[in-house]
Amino acid sequence: MMEKSFDERCAAFDENYPRVLEQIAQAAVQAGRRPEEVTLLAATKTVPLEVVNHAISRGLSCIGENRVQELLEKYDGLDRAHCDVQFIGQLQTNKVKYLMGKVSCIQSVGSVRLAREISRLCQRENTTMKVLIEVNIGREESKGGVLPEALLEVVDEVRQLPGIQVEGLMAIPPICEDVKKLRGYFSAMRQSYVDIAAKKLDNVSMNCLSMGMSSDFPEAIACGATMVRVGSSLFGKRVYPQH
Ligand SMILES: *Cc1c(COP(=O)(O)O)cnc(C)c1O
Repeated sequence: MMEKSFDERCAAFDENYPRVLEQIAQAAVQAGRRPEEVTLLAATKTVPLEVVNHAISRGLSCIGENRVQELLEKYDGLDRAHCDVQFIGQLQTNKVKYLMGKVSCIQSVGSVRLAREISRLCQRENTTMKVLIEVNIGREESKGGVLPEALLEVVDEVRQLPGIQVEGLMAIPPICEDVKKLRGYFSAMRQSYVDIAAKKLDNVSMNCLSMGMSSDFPEAIACGATMVRVGSSLFGKRVYPQH
């Protein structure tokens, strides 16, 4: 595939962005919710820095990167004054150190071990980090995240680690043709989110339920998502760099 030019990619974003915002608003209203209850996070993996900054200039206010290396390459050039930067990808414990002070939230905390490393670095740097607990809602071997039956126990352990604030839950359900099945996954997430909130645990605030991507964000919003992570519907099909 031919790489698209900067202008083409920006034009594609300009065309897609209002449509995605409209779809988010529509899904929220249909579910009896306010559009402002749903935050759009743009998943910017493989999107060149200049295109990301163009998107920010158009009003995009939250992005998520999912590889540490790529985040670091873009970080200094990002218009961070106008955009919140979060981490959404699988994370090895030995790379947490590169994210400290750079991202406002790590959405992909799928083990107590990873949380312990975040906590250790937060204490060392006398800071705090917001995290979402990632749930492997489809119980897929290939995916990170805690299994649904272990969620409460993990939340309870993580919330006690110094420097960590549990802000919510995140999930990437299996690709489903069957909308009913997909909604089943999203609804199960929503139920866990509500149940945990009801426990009013110290250091736990269920402020963010991050679920839904390009293929399924309207369903996620119908089921209660407060954040959707959208990549290709905003920036076009991903072009991976040639090596
Ligand atoms: C890439 C990515 C997305 C967005 O995927 P699209 O299908 O392009 O919208 C969402 N969440 C995570 C964790 C991702 O890595």
